Amino acid sequence: MNLESPIKNLKGVNLKILKKLEHLGIKTIKDLLFYFPRRYDDFSVITPIKYAKIGEQCTISGEVLSIANTRAYRSFMTITTAKITDGENTIQAIWYNQPFLIKNIHKGQKINISGKVGYQRKSLIMQNPAYEVLDSKPETTHTGRLVPVYKETRGLTSRWLRFLIKNALAFSSLLEDIIPEQIKEKRNLLNIKDAIEKIHFPQNRTEQNQAKKRISYEELFLIQLLIQTSKRKLKEYGAPKIEPDIEFTKNIISLLPFSLTDAQKKVLWQILKDMEKGTPMNRLVEGDVGSGKTLVALLSSANVAKNGWQTAFMAPTEILASQHFAEAKKVLRDFNISIALLTSSEKKVYEPELKEICSPKKQDLIKMINNNKVDLVLGTHSLIQDKVKFKKLGLVILDEQHRFGVAQRAALLKEQKTTPHLLSMTATPIPRTLAMTAYGDLDISLIDQMPKNRKKIITKVVPPQKRKDAYRFIKNEVSKGRQVFVICPKIEHNMPSSDGQNEIKLTQRQINNLKIKAVKEEYEKLSKKIFPDLKVAMLHGKLKPKEKENIMQDFKDKKYDILVSTSVVEVGVDVPNATIMMIEGADRFGLSQLHQFRGRVGRGEHQSYCFLFFESESETAKTRLKIMETCSDGFKLAEYDLKMRGPGDFLGKNQSGIPDVAMEALINPALISDAQEDAKDILKKDPDLKNYPKLKEKIEKMEQKIHFE
Ligand code: ADP
Ligand code: MG
Repeated sequence: MNLESPIKNLKGVNLKILKKLEHLGIKTIKDLLFYFPRRYDDFSVITPIKYAKIGEQCTISGEVLSIANTRAYRSFMTITTAKITDGENTIQAIWYNQPFLIKNIHKGQKINISGKVGYQRKSLIMQNPAYEVLDSKPETTHTGRLVPVYKETRGLTSRWLRFLIKNALAFSSLLEDIIPEQIKEKRNLLNIKDAIEKIHFPQNRTEQNQAKKRISYEELFLIQLLIQTSKRKLKEYGAPKIEPDIEFTKNIISLLPFSLTDAQKKVLWQILKDMEKGTPMNRLVEGDVGSGKTLVALLSSANVAKNGWQTAFMAPTEILASQHFAEAKKVLRDFNISIALLTSSEKKVYEPELKEICSPKKQDLIKMINNNKVDLVLGTHSLIQDKVKFKKLGLVILDEQHRFGVAQRAALLKEQKTTPHLLSMTATPIPRTLAMTAYGDLDISLIDQMPKNRKKIITKVVPPQKRKDAYRFIKNEVSKGRQVFVICPKIEHNMPSSDGQNEIKLTQRQINNLKIKAVKEEYEKLSKKIFPDLKVAMLHGKLKPKEKENIMQDFKDKKYDILVSTSVVEVGVDVPNATIMMIEGADRFGLSQLHQFRGRVGRGEHQSYCFLFFESESETAKTRLKIMETCSDGFKLAEYDLKMRGPGDFLGKNQSGIPDVAMEALINPALISDAQEDAKDILKKDPDLKNYPKLKEKIEKMEQKIHFE
């Protein structure tokens, strides 16, 4: 047996357990070893019973005086009660519905129990404590130590996982250490075997931290190696030199109904300066919702077109792609630039000579792109994944895609002789340290100024007793001709199960179904009970792109008063007449995301409002939401999110494949810069990693994975 052996061969895994493990994504011994605890219960201190405090967690060590099962009166529940003494005092351990325990625990045995101390019928008790019979084993697993707690699934508890992982640790000496010796020495890192053992069963907090550091470091080091190697590859190819045409750019701007903000001018200038060089630009533009990023991107692409090169402009959704197409046409129509929209539901080309839009067949449009007959192509992510080949791709624009930008662009290179410039744009400000991890040394531009005419959006956290007032207010706004967005609560990937003990991991399909259910319920409620005389529409992910588009268009055309939608920011569309953003279950969203939703209103001339309804009773949740009332700075909100919720929100926790323990390290600047320095060092001496075959193999695997995403 080895690390890659199927988990079914491991001692203790029967068919039932096997299914549960598969559910958690654990297929091999190695997978199990890399299934890290999500937290630890500190049961390391043994408390004499006389010092045990009611209501507090502790571990008690003693001898079993008696153990017996009883049946609870009029219920089908079995209760197992064990009396335990530490020589001076006694305590009762009580377990529910685990009658088999009397086979594991016997009178006279030494035992540890860990849990919360209670009091019942004049006796100290512990309900459902973790327990461990102390036979001749030198070391405890479930009590009397830092006890690892894992993400569980119904029928597979942390106790089971600990038992299985203990068995799997017999194979830990087979783990291959991919971090070179000299780096481990320099950075004082554990070897992988010790790190894995200690991440599961640390003797103390120091060991736990050492293990975490080592595992995080490896993650960061690999990311940095990947970024650095991709960058080297990109450098081998030149980038097209784009000569900025200032007169031409000024002409375009002069036809706009407004002037650029200073921030927009500054950022446009930075971009044009970058593209003038023969080396590929890698720039991230961060600007709050509504700061006018699209326009800056379009002006950049106009200069690229003027130089005879093409631009691929990718938006996160079809609706947004189609909105960008409309804006591109509006801004660039008189400047001899041909513009295409290519999504699964729409194929359009704007012909500048005819000043008309035609709708070619997909193959024909692809041919046009392939022959450099189109200057600017708007679409979704599939633009680069489909078999679309650009003849002269000069610039790639990614709108709202925070991914591993550099590596992604390396993937684009396959067919190209030169590297296109890369411009990423985001309204979720990515803090500097995170950006370094995800993108390597990219350049960042800030659009830190809003267009002048914007009114501040009035935000209110609405307590349950004020809900009616909010509805009345909304009704009044609608009667004045305004429109309303309603966002339904976010559906979590994990739901607590009914027994409150384990979490159930939901599949994407289940999540989608729950989302649709939430939208339908909200729609029913609003359209039938609350606003029976208003026109309400709903939007969710199950609808076909065309249906979504139609609903959005109808909403824009004021055929509906209220639009109920899931959180998929498919509402990213400009509806200047919408002035109210109402969010249900706002406490389930990150502040950045709430800010994004809020940015969907306040785009027209009227005063706009954002109402936040919440579900949680907790004070922290309310306090967190309250910040939205006073703060309208997306950057501040993002920093706050990062502090409170960790970096998962920014990198897409579920997609990034980065383990939770390492996630935290992604915002540890010292560790990041260590990893970066080490990666650069090693590549300087050995650019092809000839002396590090294991590292090389790992990096290649990561590259492959990104290519196929
Ligand atoms: P975001 O940065 O969120 O992507 P958009 O690019 O969608 O913002 O811009 C929002 C709106 O503001 C658009 O309708 C756009 O035409 C308009 N806009 C852009 N720049 C300015 C400006 N300097 N002054 C006034 N309005 C502007
Ligand atoms: Mg935008």
